[in-house]
Amino acid sequence: MFMSISTTGSAESPATDLGFLLHKHPDRVQRFATSHGEAHVFYPEAGDELCTAALLLDVDPIALVRKGRGRGGSPDCALAQYVNDRPYAASSLLAVALRTVFRSAMKGACPARPGLADRPRPLRITLPAVPANGAGEGGGPAMAARLFEPLGWRVEAAAIPLDESFPEWGESRYVRLVLVSDAVRLADALQQLYVLLPVLDGAKHYWVAPDEVDKLLAAGEGWLAAHPERALITRRYLARRWSLTRTAMERLELARLAEADDREAEEIDNAVDDRPEETEETEETEKATGPSAEPRPPSLAEQRRTAIVAALREVGAARVADLGCGQGELIGALLTDTRFTEVLGVDVSARALQAASRRLRLDRLPERQAARVTLAQGALTYTDARLKGFDAAVLCEVIEHLDLPRLPALEYAVFGAARPGAVVVTTPNVEYNVRWESLPAGVVRHADHRFEWSRAEFRTWAERVAASYGYTVVLRPVGPEDGEVGAPTQLALFRLGTPTESTPTPVHTPTPTPTPTTPEGGEPR
Ligand code: SAH
Repeated sequence: MFMSISTTGSAESPATDLGFLLHKHPDRVQRFATSHGEAHVFYPEAGDELCTAALLLDVDPIALVRKGRGRGGSPDCALAQYVNDRPYAASSLLAVALRTVFRSAMKGACPARPGLADRPRPLRITLPAVPANGAGEGGGPAMAARLFEPLGWRVEAAAIPLDESFPEWGESRYVRLVLVSDAVRLADALQQLYVLLPVLDGAKHYWVAPDEVDKLLAAGEGWLAAHPERALITRRYLARRWSLTRTAMERLELARLAEADDREAEEIDNAVDDRPEETEETEETEKATGPSAEPRPPSLAEQRRTAIVAALREVGAARVADLGCGQGELIGALLTDTRFTEVLGVDVSARALQAASRRLRLDRLPERQAARVTLAQGALTYTDARLKGFDAAVLCEVIEHLDLPRLPALEYAVFGAARPGAVVVTTPNVEYNVRWESLPAGVVRHADHRFEWSRAEFRTWAERVAASYGYTVVLRPVGPEDGEVGAPTQLALFRLGTPTESTPTPVHTPTPTPTPTTPEGGEPR
């Protein structure tokens, strides 16, 4: 089994720097024992212009059989244990050898040349025979391209004929693979090979244990979460073990959202819409104007909280889960009322949770108060045992932050799996947007809103979800109601199994009615 890595030199770094990066001297042939045979590292060429390192893995099929790892080929044929592709094809055995032989290089460690490992450089990686099994997922050269091209590699992959003397026999399941990049970190290249070689093979020579999820996510850090084929990669890497795949996908989604979170903190972290009055600046201004100033009308966000708390009291909830709690304003409001004995705040954004913890001063609350609150990171599109057993759950301005195709996953996780006694959902009423002075027509209220619904659309959704999961639902307007376009926020109160109220109780806005400014100001015209 053979693989070579070549690089070219530049003014800052001669090609032979590859030796420092791999922690293997270009002038020597080195031998390493791996669990499946011997690995040899040597350099067919080592000049300033061009340097190539080769890894040859001399797999011992008999030792593999003795270790119970020789299963390859047809189970009906005893000889297949001894006569198979293991010694020749770059499979999971090579991936494991890569990790053994190039462990430091894979970590991006290069103490001899500080900074060298962080610098992308041209690389050309050649693998003469890689098994690429489709197993119904389109194998061969096309699979190689699907896996490596999104990572920036130019992929030359050609199917190897079964037997060159008999072209009519067709192609084998092996491809000759050449990966070329003008600028890539060697550590990233090795991590990608470590994950993607067994993925291409579609099989592993060993039993896939739960710690493989950690290995996959560690090796995939920085590239797997955003890879368009991450589902295929995860499934095949974990040998189609469903529960492991699901765990890995969930953690990848968290990683992806957390990355997005760092990039667009303001947009994703919170619905900044409707409430600039809660920024510190405004609080300061208010303090400056003193007690004689007109009392500030409640913002739409405050009106929403009032309506939600009223709904929670109405259903007699004591244990409440605030799903997508953001910076914890609702949690703060719930804590002021002792009837809410336990509050769980869940959000996907670590940054939002930190802000919530600061805002609620969790570290400074008296013990008994603090014991009422738990904050937890979680993705609402996955079922989560921690969400079970609550009297009520709240989704305040959360659903519109999900891509519509992901919404059914949240519906199942909340209504199907967590199954609280009641669910309060609020979302913007898109019809009302024409009343926001500064909102151009057709623009949503917040950059991260994936959709905004009309009253009819929200009703249709709410009634479908209620019917599917055995809840009844009433819809209520929140905020100043406009005869034509309704109220700015719409609220749905779901109750498990109770009959529908015949007349929905509208939640009226406390007076005085606010004066319109901007969507962020939360005030209608
Ligand atoms: N409920 C809060 C925050 C609303 S903003 C309030 O009304 O102030 C929407 C929140 O949902 C954000 O904090 C965002 O991080 C969170 N969120 C979005 N998608 C999520 C998901 N899939 N799982 C968990 N939280 C999510």
